[in-house]
Amino acid sequence: MTGTPKSHGRISARPMLQPRELITDTPDLAGSWTAQIITLFPQAFPGVLGESLTGRALQDGLWQLQTYDLRSHGIGKHRNVDDTPAGGGAGMVLRPDVVASAIAEARAGARGIMPLVYLSPRGRRFDQAMARNWARGDGVTLLCGRFEGVDERVLQHFAIQEVSLGDFVLTGGEIAAQAMIDAAVRLLPGVLGNAESAVEESHSNGLLEHPQYTKPADWLGHPVPDVLMSGNHAKIAVWRRAQAERITQERRPDLWAAYTAKQQK
Ligand code: SAH
Repeated sequence: MTGTPKSHGRISARPMLQPRELITDTPDLAGSWTAQIITLFPQAFPGVLGESLTGRALQDGLWQLQTYDLRSHGIGKHRNVDDTPAGGGAGMVLRPDVVASAIAEARAGARGIMPLVYLSPRGRRFDQAMARNWARGDGVTLLCGRFEGVDERVLQHFAIQEVSLGDFVLTGGEIAAQAMIDAAVRLLPGVLGNAESAVEESHSNGLLEHPQYTKPADWLGHPVPDVLMSGNHAKIAVWRRAQAERITQERRPDLWAAYTAKQQK
């Protein structure tokens, strides 16, 4: 048996005293960017993605979220999804037949360009370029592992790309999925209020961002740099660029080397 995938998002027309519903059973929102999540914990979604800019964009239908419950694909009365590792050892491994059934269900609902990804510490490290790539497509299908991970054969069978959030081990793929979706969704047209803000920020132009300041102009004897109070936008832009370069050079020699190599071309 398979469960009905849960759709999240879509604005509700009814005026409500409660915060607007984030989880509804409305079917596919034709055309909007779609995150499909295969997980043992569908209730963990939308999670933090339901807040702030990504939450509003979800309600407004700028993107949609569909969760696929691995448990509903489980075997037998107890809906078993895992078993002991072949060859022995600690922990449990997600069964290939169970995972394949969930993937087939999700992919049947996929359209256009939607990469199939397994969140995994063995994967290629996620970065801004990957977020940009995903945002340019129609969405993504993310498989969240648990326990010791997923049977290797299902990864090979579907030629699943493995992507890592970083060089550390989480207990499951759900937090990694939310982080990656957040990074992609904020690049979708209309999600960020100010179209500029994705252009100048860290990792968009190969540099880390310049320091930011706000009111009060003097805080505990620390003033906001004079140039920022000067109203001279050309000077401010030059100052910010120099600061971004300084910070990148100090903190990330790897990014700095790539940046200077590109400037020389
Ligand atoms: N035994 C595995 C780790 C399993 S951790 C190994 O040593 O490689 C359980 C699940 O958490 C994984 O299946 C994966 O989906 C998720 N996970 C753990 N660390 C992750 C990371 N750095 N990036 C993305 N997903 C991760």
